[in-house]
Amino acid sequence: MNTFQDLGLNHDLIQAINDMGFVTPSDVQAQAIPILLNQDTDLVALAQTGTGKTAAFGFPMLQKIQMDSRTTQGLILSPTRELCLQITNELKQYGKHCKGLHVVAIYGGASITEQAKEVKKGAQIIVATPGRMKDMISRRLVDISKIEYAVLDEADEMLNMGFYEDITDILSHTPQEKNTWLFSATMPKEVATIAKKFMYQPVEITVGTKNVGSDQVSHEYYLVNARDRYLALKRLADANPDIFSVIFCRTKRDTQKVAEKLIEDGYSAGALHGDLSQNQRDLVMKAFRNKQIQMLVATDVAARGIDVDDITHVINYQLPDEIETYTHRSGRTGRAGKTGVSMVIVSKSEVRKIKSIERIIKKDFVKKDIPDGMEICE
Ligand code: ADP
Ligand code: MG
Repeated sequence: MNTFQDLGLNHDLIQAINDMGFVTPSDVQAQAIPILLNQDTDLVALAQTGTGKTAAFGFPMLQKIQMDSRTTQGLILSPTRELCLQITNELKQYGKHCKGLHVVAIYGGASITEQAKEVKKGAQIIVATPGRMKDMISRRLVDISKIEYAVLDEADEMLNMGFYEDITDILSHTPQEKNTWLFSATMPKEVATIAKKFMYQPVEITVGTKNVGSDQVSHEYYLVNARDRYLALKRLADANPDIFSVIFCRTKRDTQKVAEKLIEDGYSAGALHGDLSQNQRDLVMKAFRNKQIQMLVATDVAARGIDVDDITHVINYQLPDEIETYTHRSGRTGRAGKTGVSMVIVSKSEVRKIKSIERIIKKDFVKKDIPDGMEICE
């Protein structure tokens, strides 16, 4: 079996890897790292959430950039502010023994002047959301004309969120000779188009559906009357007193409403959605990470890619519009070798969607009854 040493990583990185307790490279890491270290090539990597993509591009980037230069050499684009912060933190961890490393996160909803100041100090790596990045470029607050490596992380999600034009605009300010590394869970037409347009003979790797987490996640559904949805949620929470969970709703409004009701009813909950201020979002994320909140009620966009350890349950309060999104949701649990449960609360009119999801995840759901509450089951 490959070790991180076998992949060709240098001493500083190996030391950080040991500090973090990573033992074996994940599939996507084992495939991508040697390619990115040894070849100056573009790369398209398809891998589900929770497979360790951040390190798959992060380690090679950290090894390849010049730490003694203050030029911005690496640019990572990612769909949400939370993800930007998360990737930035991961990179700082991975690079904690790399002397002189400066990684800066650039995202909307926070002071652009502060971010520009950080960049000016000499950031070798910028991690950015497309919107804010474009803004900074047009105000000449960043210089990405010497970028050597550009990463499009969660490319499918960025395109879903309508960032196609921003990405195009940003990449047009980077040099032709750079290498572009694209990471995506799925390969819809739009991602193929981007790859074709901006990449030159990319090496392609696919890491099946074998998710670090997916074998660890069991899937359950609870059939209830639509009007009993909230009651069902409470019963599920009551039956699992140690629950540490993300609860997904379809809209910002429902997200806020469900979180408020849970709090009113004495549960430990918080809301995460795009109508909150950046400060509110940071606070709730911090509280959740520190386990001061047991149930994070969130929209898909806000929760995208959030990597919090030890999530025991993902609860689909409502199913997502796009069933592919279910994979992203359930990928929040069962990470890094731990087990998790993904629960779906469905009404009769949606229950057929369970079959479609089973086809996509290639696993069967277990139909369960709401604990202690047969009367609310269909
Ligand atoms: P993705 O971007 O594919 O969703 P992440 O890069 O966020 O996945 O990694 C998921 C989790 O797994 C993180 O907590 C990360 O620290 C952890 N992780 C990554 N690689 C390894 C590894 N080789 N061994 C153990 N844990 C890992
Ligand atoms: Mg990721």
